[in-house]
Amino acid sequence: MKKIYLILFLPLLVPQVRISDEFPVEKHCSITYIANDGFLIDTGKNKILIDALFGNIDGNWCEQPSDSICKLMLNGISPFDNINLVLISHRHADHFSAPMVITFLKNNIKTSLICPRQVNELLQQQTGYNSVASRIISIDPGKSPDTLLSINNTAIRVMKFSHGKFMIADSITGELINIHEDVENIGFIIHSEGFALFHSGDNTSVDPDDYLLYNIKNTAIDIAFFDKMFIRQEGMHIVNTQIAPANMVFMHIGPEQTELLRSVTVGIPEIFIFTKSTETRIYHSGISE
Ligand SMILES: [Zn+2]
Repeated sequence: MKKIYLILFLPLLVPQVRISDEFPVEKHCSITYIANDGFLIDTGKNKILIDALFGNIDGNWCEQPSDSICKLMLNGISPFDNINLVLISHRHADHFSAPMVITFLKNNIKTSLICPRQVNELLQQQTGYNSVASRIISIDPGKSPDTLLSINNTAIRVMKFSHGKFMIADSITGELINIHEDVENIGFIIHSEGFALFHSGDNTSVDPDDYLLYNIKNTAIDIAFFDKMFIRQEGMHIVNTQIAPANMVFMHIGPEQTELLRSVTVGIPEIFIFTKSTETRIYHSGISE
């Protein structure tokens, strides 16, 4: 009787393991810091540039790419060769330069661009726009606050997020006005080769409803890029309750703030702050194919 019992149940004792689980394929996602909110994301076959094509800003209030890095980007020279996709969060000069984007698209004929309508309107004023227009996907966040796209081997979710406030006093009435009220700012969830990355441009967590609305925590985010303002208590509350990413990168950090913010986050391995343009960090994943 005992023998029969063993025979009957033997198959259940064999570990139910798929071959792919026995030999998980370790994947790599390389993140290279360009400047400000600008990064190169490389997941092996796909390369994505986000908020990186800008420069020559008069002033030192933000980090910006050097002339030599701009030259490499514009000409598609390694590590900026074979870029599948360029993403732009909003129209501000520390996130995009219209002449540079047109030049980039002219030089890199396989690259597509996703940007908000206001960015597209500035691009339309540039000479040469018509020759690259077919590769530009313009999002109207008013009409499409949550859009799913699949383009050049990459699935992208595009969402509308409020831009951080910048209050100035009206010169006549003294009334405080948010001069960024009308800026169309879009964020992205990028699915590339097993990795999910989140970038919300210049959202500064002033409106927690943005995050409640989109149920972002239903997606397992591997790497999330946040404005430095998220380091505040209410920002981290949103990060932990609404997004819960495995890793975080804080960005939009002025030249004199980097070391201070890095010291605040020392000892928290999930958080990283880049300090130098072209600095690269590799993220690993054991996700099976
Ligand atoms: Zn901005």
